[in-house]
Amino acid sequence: MKNIVVIGAGTMGNGIAHVFAMNGYSVSLVDISADALARAVATIGKNLDRMVSKASITEADKAAALANIVTNTDLSAVAENADLIVEAATENVDLKLKIFRQMDELAPANCILATNTSSISITQIAAVTKRPSLVIGMHFMNPVPVMKLVEVICGYSTSAETLKTIMELSAKLGKAPVEVNDYPGFVANRILMPMINEAIYTLYESVAGVEEIDTVMKLGMAHPMGPLQLADFIGLDVCLSILRVLHDGFGNPKYAPCPLLVNMVTAGKMGVKSGEGFYLHTAGSKDLIVAPHFKK
Ligand code: NAD
Repeated sequence: MKNIVVIGAGTMGNGIAHVFAMNGYSVSLVDISADALARAVATIGKNLDRMVSKASITEADKAAALANIVTNTDLSAVAENADLIVEAATENVDLKLKIFRQMDELAPANCILATNTSSISITQIAAVTKRPSLVIGMHFMNPVPVMKLVEVICGYSTSAETLKTIMELSAKLGKAPVEVNDYPGFVANRILMPMINEAIYTLYESVAGVEEIDTVMKLGMAHPMGPLQLADFIGLDVCLSILRVLHDGFGNPKYAPCPLLVNMVTAGKMGVKSGEGFYLHTAGSKDLIVAPHFKK
């Protein structure tokens, strides 16, 4: 494998491009938005600078990584040489199915098509292609350059060879790949999201306040971040959509999203990305400030 195409240059796409480029792969980063591409390259540059300042890489490593990345707004311009395409576009089923049909048409017949989806069925995505055995989930964690885990998800038709290739490739990227099967939420979000939902229910039922809930989980369970703060980071809209996938997929009421979460998303309170969730996310402030809505 040499030529990697990453589709989507948002939060995850820029991190995925960063990690492949740092490990010597040629990366074509594709997004429909030229602004998103420019922001992604700037973010990768900044993140590499941070690594240089911590002496974990040299200036020459940084320059080599940046030289490995090209950007494009047109997938058809880069897909024909791809050995692997990793799709990290917006979490939306119809969009992913459309992109996978395009990828299938444009990429060489032996090219593996991977998705970084948090919750959409790999089997459903693979079914719209003519190469379901070459379709796989490659679920990186945020922030990608820092987090070791890659959840590698086998769809119903993913071949053992595709799995082996992606497990080995993830290890070459310095990651710790874990093999899982394709059921709603895979493993990470099947366990994480009910915990976050329960934390929101605990707040909704006034068992405790925002800070108290997060403190219990940080100090009592040694979590680096409380579940409400983590939900703000992930994005409350993203949490809601994953809970809906779990609820629909299993038909089990235990996954029903808390009405408070639904209300917050409806009110546009998405967490860090909108500036407010359970906490206020004022630019530059390192202190956790509980959002006015939840002040006692
Ligand atoms: P994001 O909103 O930050 O970025 C998505 C990017 O996709 C945007 O730049 C958008 O312009 C681009 N895009 C939309 N349609 C496109 C198309 N047709 N072709 C090319 N680019 C297109 O989203 P994100 O947080 O980076 O999430 C991307 C994927 O990664 C999603 O599937 C999400 O579920 C998954 N994921 C996210 C996280 C996280 O913490 N944010 C963690 C793990 C997995």
